[in-house]
Amino acid sequence: MKTRVEVEFNGRSIPGGEQVVLEAARCGVDVARVEDIEVLNKTFVEVTLDHDDPRLPVLLRLLQDRGVKVWERRWDEYTEAEFHAAPLLLLAPPAWTYNVNGGPRWGTQYDLSAACPVCAAGARQTSALMVDGVYRENVEMFEENRAVTSRMEILVDDRLAETLTSAGLSGLSFRGVCQVQEDGRRVELPWRQICAAHTMPSVSPRSIGFGPRRVCPSCGRSGFSMFDEMVPTRLAYRARDVVGAEDVNRMWEYFGDVEWKGELKTAMLPYTHFLVTPKVRRIFLDAGVTGFDWLPIRVVDV
Ligand SMILES: [Zn+2]
Repeated sequence: MKTRVEVEFNGRSIPGGEQVVLEAARCGVDVARVEDIEVLNKTFVEVTLDHDDPRLPVLLRLLQDRGVKVWERRWDEYTEAEFHAAPLLLLAPPAWTYNVNGGPRWGTQYDLSAACPVCAAGARQTSALMVDGVYRENVEMFEENRAVTSRMEILVDDRLAETLTSAGLSGLSFRGVCQVQEDGRRVELPWRQICAAHTMPSVSPRSIGFGPRRVCPSCGRSGFSMFDEMVPTRLAYRARDVVGAEDVNRMWEYFGDVEWKGELKTAMLPYTHFLVTPKVRRIFLDAGVTGFDWLPIRVVDV
């Protein structure tokens, strides 16, 4: 694994231009991308380096000396061997790239008997997943991909679902997916929603780049975030908790914004992420699903 750092700044905020700083820090075209954006009167500069590259502190100091505003982002890159060796991987769909609208507002039903009254965490889905069948972009998403997301639910086409089933993965089940038409008709799609029987215990406090953002005061289970640009997300689980895991699991923690006034038709429910074994990643990659992100978890004593 190596930690990568991306540094962004506006080249026009530097007297003499960005090359003054890039040359002094020995950051050539191999690590620096420069793009003039005339309409914004801006020169976008993006430098990507390993976190321990000696050029990084030099570059940051040169920018700081000139009072240049800098955006910085850090993340970890793993090797194929590390993905393979991890006990579990977080299946992290890239933001909203493959997202289709669906959920309670489209008529998906949930059992709320064990749900938090404040944030609805713990609502248990009891029907097929209803997705929007009106917007062209939504419909095309199914035509152009083999796996899509709907507020972090993972949907796969029938063939990929069959491959996953025949691999004998533990903890895995499926629900149907229905497209809701303009007139309210529900058309079943040749797609399946991935479900997990097992929920992991909460993460270890040794996790970093992960934490409470606006945690629900009632259940303490929703309002977590993995979005911290300065710290790469490193999820840790206690060894004893990993022992009880299946091939497909959900996290205990819930994420995302919530709108909950006790009515499903206006609700936006919090979501949890999937934790899966490397076997699942291999099946996705072999099926040509390459746009999803995977994050190996770490195992710790406490
Ligand atoms: Zn709650």
